[in-house]
Amino acid sequence: MGGQEEEFVAKAFRENWIAPLGPNLNGFESDLENYIGNDKHIAVLSSGTAAIHLALVQLGVSEGDEVICQSFTFCGSANPIMYQGASPVFVDSEPSTWNICPKALETAILDRLDKGKTPKAIIPVHLYGMPYLIEEVAAVAAKYNIPIIEDAAESLGSTYKSQKCGSFGDFAALSFNGNKIITTSGGGALVCKSQPTKKRAVFYSTQARDDAPHYQHSEIGFNYRMSNVSAGIGRGQMLVLEKHVALRREMHQFYQEIFAKIDGITVLTEPSEDYFSNHWLTAILVNPSKTQGIDREQMRLHLETYNIESRPLWKPMHLQPVFADRPYYGTNVAEELFENGLCLPSGSNLEDPDRKRIKSAILELFKK
Ligand SMILES: *Cc1c(COP(=O)(O)O)cnc(C)c1O
Repeated sequence: MGGQEEEFVAKAFRENWIAPLGPNLNGFESDLENYIGNDKHIAVLSSGTAAIHLALVQLGVSEGDEVICQSFTFCGSANPIMYQGASPVFVDSEPSTWNICPKALETAILDRLDKGKTPKAIIPVHLYGMPYLIEEVAAVAAKYNIPIIEDAAESLGSTYKSQKCGSFGDFAALSFNGNKIITTSGGGALVCKSQPTKKRAVFYSTQARDDAPHYQHSEIGFNYRMSNVSAGIGRGQMLVLEKHVALRREMHQFYQEIFAKIDGITVLTEPSEDYFSNHWLTAILVNPSKTQGIDREQMRLHLETYNIESRPLWKPMHLQPVFADRPYYGTNVAEELFENGLCLPSGSNLEDPDRKRIKSAILELFKK
């Protein structure tokens, strides 16, 4: 927390706006719209998963449809496809950004078309804050006229060619879950291209109530609207977003410097000057053939002995038991990332003594 969150929340209490309605909601939405820019209209919701769900609803995804999704991601990207009774088609990553591979994406689309199915949407992800290959993915989507739902849950504050992540897709999802770059404890937002689309999103997020004095419903809705209390936290968090990005990037630089002197470790880094990552998490790949046999798991356990938590990367969706029978296109890029990758402590609240402890634990392991 930055400090001003409590004031916004206290104001909600004072004015008795304890509901999924109120001035903080509108305020947080306009803060986000100003930040994301590009004439976007934003509806704040109860989670990032809800945002992806409402994007699918608005694109008319329903029973029996197919939606393409980056396999290397958190389940929040893929689960909403199932909520709609549709089927996910998973696509591999490419090595430069670790995100969806445009070539495998096109192969997937062509094969699905061959099977008589036109995918209804594509869900690429800016994983760990790293923008995906924006132009290449947009070109494939445009060629086959398939809308993009940009999963920007981890990438608020990241840019590609100075344009904010969350402004590239036909829709985009943001998340303010407790672990994200800014948080409302739990929450999310759907970025829309027009005011009427945003109004539809709000309509669906508040139980799809018709315009009548009584409660009347012609469609099925959801209880997905953010509360005015959470939005108060969000307004305070917007004031520290840039600071959080700077701190995460400092952590990334800290690891870059350590690993520059150690063979066999690659830090996920921007492929060119066009990319600017918020470095939400700093993630590395460990290549045991160059580290005298030290692998990812040994490194994780070593850090754990010093009470330093690190975690394997996201387990790809096509390897998840629940999605085992779903189609997958690609090779083993995502799989190898999962096998050899590790997320390192990256929080905005780490201090010099923490960094010292992390550095000496890493150096101890690799000097052997
Ligand atoms: C966190 C996250 C989501 C879901 O957001 P919630 O607010 O937790 O529902 C979706 N996709 C990715 C990549 C995420 O990291």
